[in-house]
Amino acid sequence: TKVDVSDLLILLGVALATAAYFTKGKLWAVERKAPVFASTLAAAGQAEKTRDIVKKMRESNKNAVVFYGSQTGTAEDYANRLAKEGHAKYGLQTMTADLEDYEYDSLDSFPEDAVAFFVLATYGEGEPTDNAVPFFDFIKDPDSQFASGQSAEETPLTAMKYVAFGLGNKTYEHYNAVVKICDAALSKLGACALAPYGMGDDADGTMEEDFLSWKEEMWTQVSQKMGLEAREVQYEPAFEVTEDDELSRESGSVFLGEPSKKHLTKAAKPFNANNPFLAPIATSTELFTVKGRNCMHVEFDLAGSGVKYKTGDHLALWPSNADQEVERLLRVTGLTSKRHTVIRVRALDSTAKVPVPQPTTYDAAMRYYLEICGPVSRQFLSTLVQFAPDESSKSEMALLSSDKDAFHKKVSVPHFNLAQLLESITSKTWNLPFSVILEAFGKLQPRYYSISSSSLVSPNKVSVTAIVETKSFPGHKNVLNGVTTNYLLALSQLKNNVTDPHPYGVGYDLAGPREKYSGAKIPAHVRQSNFRLPADPSVPILMVGPGTGVAPFRAFVEERAKQAAEGMQVGKTMLFYGCRSRNEDFLYKDTWPQYQQALGDAFDMDVAFSREGSQKVYVQHRLKQRAEEVKRILVEGKGNVYVCGDASHMARDVNNALVEILGDSAVQALRTQTKYFEDVW
Ligand code: FAD
Repeated sequence: TKVDVSDLLILLGVALATAAYFTKGKLWAVERKAPVFASTLAAAGQAEKTRDIVKKMRESNKNAVVFYGSQTGTAEDYANRLAKEGHAKYGLQTMTADLEDYEYDSLDSFPEDAVAFFVLATYGEGEPTDNAVPFFDFIKDPDSQFASGQSAEETPLTAMKYVAFGLGNKTYEHYNAVVKICDAALSKLGACALAPYGMGDDADGTMEEDFLSWKEEMWTQVSQKMGLEAREVQYEPAFEVTEDDELSRESGSVFLGEPSKKHLTKAAKPFNANNPFLAPIATSTELFTVKGRNCMHVEFDLAGSGVKYKTGDHLALWPSNADQEVERLLRVTGLTSKRHTVIRVRALDSTAKVPVPQPTTYDAAMRYYLEICGPVSRQFLSTLVQFAPDESSKSEMALLSSDKDAFHKKVSVPHFNLAQLLESITSKTWNLPFSVILEAFGKLQPRYYSISSSSLVSPNKVSVTAIVETKSFPGHKNVLNGVTTNYLLALSQLKNNVTDPHPYGVGYDLAGPREKYSGAKIPAHVRQSNFRLPADPSVPILMVGPGTGVAPFRAFVEERAKQAAEGMQVGKTMLFYGCRSRNEDFLYKDTWPQYQQALGDAFDMDVAFSREGSQKVYVQHRLKQRAEEVKRILVEGKGNVYVCGDASHMARDVNNALVEILGDSAVQALRTQTKYFEDVW
């Protein structure tokens, strides 16, 4: 068989991308320095997409680049907004750059009249996002080699001007660690910050306002230092959208929701983050015994997919938007009758990324590719003023975009999404160019779930423990239904032949594009984590996981129970779990006794019921009451501690309880010796 060189190169590229993903970029640094890959591509004429950012800026006449390190899409969205504003208001020639799309050794020839923006989210335990790992490793490593051969000591970045904004969460131990570390590293390398770096805090829901207020001050300083003049902002579309009458939704090349190009033909291996597997639900069980709240144990079949996971990993699930929200957005933008028209989208700037695959349809874009239900950006509302259908809507939109308090009351409190907001202002149609809609929303993101099965026990079945999000707001009719968990609930109903309507009244196209999801399937991929059991099962472990935080511990205990049943020596396995009451939400209540039987005295489960007694009891209280055992596991037994679940309070409270029991330095030592693991969200 004739093998095409380009096929080999594509395979090589996929292998490298997969390796970078699964090694969290650690191997990437090695590949990055290997000249073979780059020159092979160049020789084969495949190198038109350069990985040299300075070259890219020169070629496309840019004097401002906004790099982003994004996991959930928010940093990417902020980067797009900075780029857009930099161009529209300050006349900069801007581009955005996904940090994993470029190499950084040419930054020492960064143009003197240009500026780099960095929008960097901190993820997990003070880590960079997956796409920022290679940059992070490069920039903070003093041995980093730059293209000119200059070393870090020679401050190779003196020509570079930059500003940075970080997205973090104050309740985490390492608040905004990534932007802090990168800022320090950049300035150590000689780069000049045009304004102090900013930090957004997700903990109190102030991220957007933190970003807006940082941005205002930042632009004042940047425009002063670069001699830029603010001008009246005119909306310029980022994309050209054309309707293609020659194609219909029956045409094979049209994306109707398929997660990747391979799915347009026949879903093909290897499955990974860029080509998710259509995972069929094997079983789905309701774990709560109380009406009005739902938590599902959902098991997916991996047989034949080649998808592997390890105990402690995360499963990413790719949702689709609910019928009601798709209909609403189509209705308020006047696109209902054209929903299945095929569209082609072209970026008007060669450096911009089209957020939807194409050709596609209006319906598919809204249902499968755009995060249409997410929070509304106050900054974006100013773009909508000019498209308001009448004067009163125009003035209301202008007020909401400029008045923080009015926005809070009208939009943030009821948690409106954009279509709900537009609908609440007027029943008239908002005649928005489709480019505005594409710019308003980020790409629909997968949601992550801590895997609750053990790969040792069930390598071909992977399970998650997901609580269904549904929130109402006093004084408002609006109900917020989590996108993925309600979708999962609908799929579970389908799998279990439940004929009752969805308990929260939401519907989905469960058959999926071209009915490829029929049989209760959902696109999924595995994300590797560091949350690992000790390799030696005799090492004692302490686990703290209230609520759905117990998910990975079901897997840990399941694994150790199997090891014990096989005659292995298993160390103390102590679990602190918490829920409201034993008759409402005690997760896996009937499963724990089976593990207890297999593990005997090695297993110890302590449950804090917060609503059973006159006083609320939480896991941290139980930890303190069992201080002696805690010490025995962590100090005498040199065991590991694992915490999973709520990041906003629980993880901090547990840390404080451990400090009280063991002392500050002992807890710090656990962290530095990587014996303190957190999987919190
Ligand atoms: P979404 O639609 O994403 O909504 C989630 C929240 O976003 C809402 O509650 C609200 O606060 C906010 N929001 C959404 N829309 C708006 C709006 N218009 N305005 C304002 N705010 C809005 N969950 C589990 O149940 N079990 C697990 O084991 C688990 N493990 C996780 C592991 C990791 C590493 C991470 C990062 C998260 C984990 N989660 C887990 C959480 C999970 O990923 C999802 O966030 C959760 O299930 C909600 O997803 P959803 O799509 O249903 O809700």
